Amino acid sequence: MDALSELRAALGPDACLTGEALQGVAHRSDASATGQDLPLALLRPGSVAEISKALEICHRHGQPVVPQGGMTGLAGGANCRPGDVALSLARFHGVEEIDPVAGAMVVRAGTVLEIAQNAATDAGFLLPIDLGARGSCQIGGNIATNAGGLRVVRHGTVRDNLLGLEAVQADGSVLSHLSRMRKDNTGYDLRHLMAGSEGTLAVITRAVLRLSPMPSGIETAVCALESYDAVLALMSRARGQVALSAFEVMWADYFELCGGRRLFSTTPPFAVIVETEGGGLEPLLESAVEDSLILDALVAQSHAEARRFWEVREAALPEAHVNDIVNFDVSLPIAGMDDYVEVCRARISSAQPAARSFFFGHIGDSNLHIMVEVPGYSDADVHAVDRIAYDLVRDLGGVISAEHGIGTLKRGWLGHSRSPAELAAMRAIKHALDPAGILNPGKVL
Ligand code: ZN
Repeated sequence: MDALSELRAALGPDACLTGEALQGVAHRSDASATGQDLPLALLRPGSVAEISKALEICHRHGQPVVPQGGMTGLAGGANCRPGDVALSLARFHGVEEIDPVAGAMVVRAGTVLEIAQNAATDAGFLLPIDLGARGSCQIGGNIATNAGGLRVVRHGTVRDNLLGLEAVQADGSVLSHLSRMRKDNTGYDLRHLMAGSEGTLAVITRAVLRLSPMPSGIETAVCALESYDAVLALMSRARGQVALSAFEVMWADYFELCGGRRLFSTTPPFAVIVETEGGGLEPLLESAVEDSLILDALVAQSHAEARRFWEVREAALPEAHVNDIVNFDVSLPIAGMDDYVEVCRARISSAQPAARSFFFGHIGDSNLHIMVEVPGYSDADVHAVDRIAYDLVRDLGGVISAEHGIGTLKRGWLGHSRSPAELAAMRAIKHALDPAGILNPGKVL
């Protein structure tokens, strides 16, 4: 039997969609909208045993497999090439257990992040992983991309909140280490190898996530600032005085694009959303106003008002009427970030006069996001913009991806951030764990 017939026989026709059944489903591309091809088949296994069986069959036939989560990534990491089989974890979902003593949650990879967050909240805990795509991204994808997001400044990335992991290897064998212990020094840490591997080393099936105590006294403000120096001064003062849970900076172009004018009558050069836990926000802002660090500040008087501030930061692209976007999520030394922004913006507009660039980011985590709108762009335009942004990142000692991962879109630039010796070590690991090269081929390396 060929691979597809075996997969259909093993999983059943409802869990192995092909042909017409694939047309209506969004498995062509992640949110970068760069995927063009439908997979040969979409596998929808409902258990670890079925995931294992599917991979065993694909391994034996040399059939490439693309693991897919909520398809909210921005690096093309879940896109298929013609002839690839897509493996959706959507049917393997749900929170299996919340352990209040260990402060841990056991969750299946196909669980939508927001559902896991709500389960933690209902049990009196905070699941500290949070990002704009919370309503559709899945835990497995969050781990596979080592997602960052909005709470990293306080709680770290997904990797920092990952206690245990289960994953199925290319040959179908199951690596299960669903530890809930904070301290575990038993040999190589496969958990951290899989986190951020973007589906190229194994298919993540279950995880144990660390839960935090529910924060109390969350306060949110949006501040208007005159200069990047003032942004840095506010950040360092905030770090000394309060427990920061978010510090999100928007340059004027982004703030304006996303409707920031709803908040301030004129668009300030910089707008910062400051969120704190445990109080102390108003005294911080009062002293900052007195010392002329900030021009103006709005402190949310209700949860709804805080949401209004966040909506500006998380503004959906269609709402902002921006198309033909090239996305970046680079890391840079914090002090040099505004210099990067100025040079990058100038070089892009001189190379692409019709382009518009928008800058924002999780500055407390050294993470800058850039959206470049290049109307009617070609592949050559994208490459030219990539080169400008990434050459400058390399020159300033940054890295080309802070949180979105490498996928297909940044694969050609990985050498800007990793040495030949590091890339050779990565290839050796890939070959050892996936000798037939069936797991998400063409991604990362
Ligand atoms: Zn981000």
